[in-house]
Amino acid sequence: RAKEDGRGCHRIFSSAMDETVKVRSSIEDELRAALTTGEGFEVAYQAQVAAAGKSIVGLEALLRWRHPALGTILPEQFIPVAEQTGLIIRLGEWVLHEACSVSQRWPDLFISINLSPIQFRSENFAERVIAIVRASGADPRKIELEVTEGVLLDAGGETANALRKLRRAGFRIALDDFGTGYSSLGYLQKFEVDKIKIDRSFVKNLGQDENATAIVEAIVALGQALNLTVTAEGVETREQGRFLDKAGCDELQGYLFSKALPTEQIALLLAAPPPTSQVQRSGPSSLH
Ligand code: C2E
Ligand code: MG
Ligand code: MG
Ligand code: MG
Repeated sequence: RAKEDGRGCHRIFSSAMDETVKVRSSIEDELRAALTTGEGFEVAYQAQVAAAGKSIVGLEALLRWRHPALGTILPEQFIPVAEQTGLIIRLGEWVLHEACSVSQRWPDLFISINLSPIQFRSENFAERVIAIVRASGADPRKIELEVTEGVLLDAGGETANALRKLRRAGFRIALDDFGTGYSSLGYLQKFEVDKIKIDRSFVKNLGQDENATAIVEAIVALGQALNLTVTAEGVETREQGRFLDKAGCDELQGYLFSKALPTEQIALLLAAPPPTSQVQRSGPSSLH
């Protein structure tokens, strides 16, 4: 009887696997096609605001895939496939080029771009990034590269070298999703970074969960002690915002200020924030 159940399970399991494999390979085919035609990908931008004054100081580039039949597909659904198939290398370079070109509309803001660990393992990665940014005409000092601990995890000399080259070329490095990996503190000692981004799982429970509150305070203190900029991700409520201000966080990002928006919508937000809006534009408005 147990054996029968086991077999039933096995059958269900393998048909679920078949499904997964099918879905994955169709995503792969479509990703490939989209990359060939260049159609369907879009970069959305989310505001990052200074804790003090709430002016917009930066934008994070977040990839979107507008599928003709399925609508907007979020990165969590296709980035893993792009990574497994190596397509992330071309896709990542496309994002870099696109975001750098767009960034020149707002020379007083910095633009953050997410990089996958797979990209770092590709040949001459730092040199290619530098070449793409140079070709787009953007200033590397206005570009922030977001890496996760996954990038640093199996970082042999190659990744460390690439990071060092990029930093020397003027890029800022931000450690994304901080606190969710394995040994963040070791990485902070080993790699030079400019910013840490507190993962939204901690921000979410601020003021409700004592541990989350203590962790956020400790991360801010650590960042200050190491002279790093500290950004909080996933700020959704005024209460969270107030708490983060009080804790000494430098920058805030989250739905409280804006979600990721298409270029033209972010341009509107930057040009003319509605009077009721939380956010204000920093510097002169030179957007058109
Ligand atoms: P991430 O870099 O940590 O980006 C923040 C994610 O949190 C984004 O999700 C953003 O839309 C979402 N978010 C921002 N504020 C809030 C908030 O207040 N509440 C909630 N619930 N969510 C918020 P998104 O755009 O779906 O991206 C997910 C992840 O996909 C990113 O996490 C990043 O790791 C990856 N990703 C996005 N674009 C790229 C890309 O161009 N290249 C690579 N390699 N990865 C990317
Ligand atoms: Mg990010
Ligand atoms: Mg993050
Ligand atoms: Mg994340």
